[in-house]
Amino acid sequence: MNRLVVQKYGGTSVGNIERIKKIAERIARLRKEKIDIVVVVSAMAGETDKLLAMANQISAIGKDRDMDLLLSSGERVSCALLSMALDSIGCPAISMTGRQIGLLTDNSHTKARIKEVDTNRAIKALEDGQVIVVAGFQGINEHGDVTTLGRGGSDTSAAAIAVALKAERCEIYTDVDGVYTADPNVVPNAHKMNRVSYDEMLEMSSLGAKVLQFRCVEFCKNYDMPLIVKSSLVEDSKGTLICKEDSSMEQPIVSGIMNDKNQAKITIKGVPDQPGIASKFFTGLADENLSVDMIIQNVSDESQTDISFTVAKAEINKATKVVQDLGKLIKARDITTDTNICKISIVGAGMRSHPGVAAKMFSTLSKENINIIMISTSEIRVSCIIEEKYGELAVRVLHKVFDMDKTLVNS
Ligand code: ASP
Ligand code: MG
Repeated sequence: MNRLVVQKYGGTSVGNIERIKKIAERIARLRKEKIDIVVVVSAMAGETDKLLAMANQISAIGKDRDMDLLLSSGERVSCALLSMALDSIGCPAISMTGRQIGLLTDNSHTKARIKEVDTNRAIKALEDGQVIVVAGFQGINEHGDVTTLGRGGSDTSAAAIAVALKAERCEIYTDVDGVYTADPNVVPNAHKMNRVSYDEMLEMSSLGAKVLQFRCVEFCKNYDMPLIVKSSLVEDSKGTLICKEDSSMEQPIVSGIMNDKNQAKITIKGVPDQPGIASKFFTGLADENLSVDMIIQNVSDESQTDISFTVAKAEINKATKVVQDLGKLIKARDITTDTNICKISIVGAGMRSHPGVAAKMFSTLSKENINIIMISTSEIRVSCIIEEKYGELAVRVLHKVFDMDKTLVNS
């Protein structure tokens, strides 16, 4: 059997015909090295948003089943065009939708999860010497209906297909040349990391790093599939390798710093400090499908307490309504909201073995007179909610304090 590589090209990489032709040439070159290739594509840049906007002009509450059929069409266009481009330069290719590649999902339309990939047809096509071009982001459920995997889902299609076909690696081509220590638009000294562990990347993806869908990283971690992010716009982009933690190497204490601006805070003041109160509020939020991120409850004062938590900015109105309704029943003293906040996080596998990282983060923020509103941690992450206007300053000073300006992290 030949070596097999799965490549995924994002929306900008297939953004126009010129770029599609360029990618076809790149794939044909790799194919000459006798490597089997499955290519997963996103819709051309902006297409998914256009389709969504059209649906919203008709109804804000379109049926999810129709929505999936609509949204899946974007990927079908780029998939068919790339397959044609490959054929036209003498590189035999076959285009496949989610159904044709055998990608079976559960029934949750617009955010379906992959159940299995039936590889029979793909294996035959590869044996016939064809490059397979797959429409990403989509599958079918048990009823044969089209489903989609959530925004950014083509990354996850690629990971699942790479795992199912036992590819040697999964390459994600995008418009940046890898994963950076911080947003280079904010920190001019930020640099690309050569290597990041799965766990670090999972944290970064859940903190809003758009470069990879969380579930793609999760898939690759679970099956130990090497994942590479690189640019399709630069020749010879080395990219960032996401892989198992390398124990032979000293881990940098902090690898990445993130600023998640998509946070809003709700505080419920003066609720009875007794069993069942938190459960009422958070069950109410969960029933409305609202995800809560950070939660703090104050030490109770005369049998009353305050609870604060954060939600995504776009969901603040919906969440406030739920909390106000429950607050009336429970006779909460007051409910306040704050949308001018952000979440600054430092992520690094080295934190496991280095005490004092959180302390250093807090003292750095205090030196800049930045007040910390909430704190949460994981084994390899510390996050602080602060006022949004200090977000960029915080990222810059932390990048410096943790020596990320100078050293080539993880290289
Ligand atoms: N086209 C879809 C989106 O824009 C899926 C993807 O690109 O991964 O979210
Ligand atoms: Mg993407």
